[in-house]
Amino acid sequence: MQNVTTISEVRQILCEVRQSGKTIGCVPTMGALHEGHISLIKAAVEQSDFVVVTIFVNPTQFAPHEDLSKYPRPLERDLKLCTEAGASLVFHPSAEEMYAKDSQISVTVGSLADCWEGASRPGHFDGVATVVTKLFNVVQPDLAFFGAKDYQQQSIIRAMCRDLDIPVKIVTCPTIREESGLALSSRNVYLSDQEREIAIHISQALLRAKERYPDAAWSLEQLRKTLRQELNETAGLELDYATIVDPVTLQEVPEKQETMVALIAARVGTTRLIDNMELSLRS
Ligand code: AMP
Repeated sequence: MQNVTTISEVRQILCEVRQSGKTIGCVPTMGALHEGHISLIKAAVEQSDFVVVTIFVNPTQFAPHEDLSKYPRPLERDLKLCTEAGASLVFHPSAEEMYAKDSQISVTVGSLADCWEGASRPGHFDGVATVVTKLFNVVQPDLAFFGAKDYQQQSIIRAMCRDLDIPVKIVTCPTIREESGLALSSRNVYLSDQEREIAIHISQALLRAKERYPDAAWSLEQLRKTLRQELNETAGLELDYATIVDPVTLQEVPEKQETMVALIAARVGTTRLIDNMELSLRS
């Protein structure tokens, strides 16, 4: 596996890869890799010939009060995990390599970033869209792999590729969970044992909503209300939002649809956690 920190090196290596007719798969990450990330790398290995994992804790998607400086950065361990998962190249640039000091141009997301995560974290998705555009311009992948765990993020990346004519096929991979149901996240390392127990209520509430959804006795309004109520009643958990929305527009609609998605964000201690689950009338 090649281990690269500069844009020019990536370009040089990938130019040859492309000339040899290989397809390129890209897995953008912020590192502190866990089984969720590994599942994306494995999907990329299955679906493309040459897999580039990017590890970059992108400063432009963090607000000043967020955890940019304390975000975990176990690079040696991450490189080992990438090798084991079958990645061909890891690109882990510095912030200076990625952003010119006098950088002038960035990507702005429309109303898809006004709701949910975007409402709670103003500017976050502009930072994500900008760095993903830059990574796509460096790597020029055929395919890119994102987790359903960050549901709004994958929606925005899909819309971005459509609206800016970026020729990358976006593949969304399922959320990997602990046995308890807790969605794997690099931020789970911040949780104490007690907080972890509290955090498990998030996936449990999602599972209950998924079970109830096909039942005609449960209206959409009742489902949303109960989801919020259950989480508001969980001691030690501070709910940011809990909702059930259209899976493409992410808007609340009045009636149940064939498929919808339940989205939750909550704070447990100082750690902000997000999770979601697809709901289907057929299950
Ligand atoms: P991050 O390093 O948190 O920016 O995440 C990098 C990629 O991994 C994103 O596409 C995430 O959606 C995805 N990801 C994070 N957690 C999980 C998980 N538990 N299961 C599947 N994918 C995940």
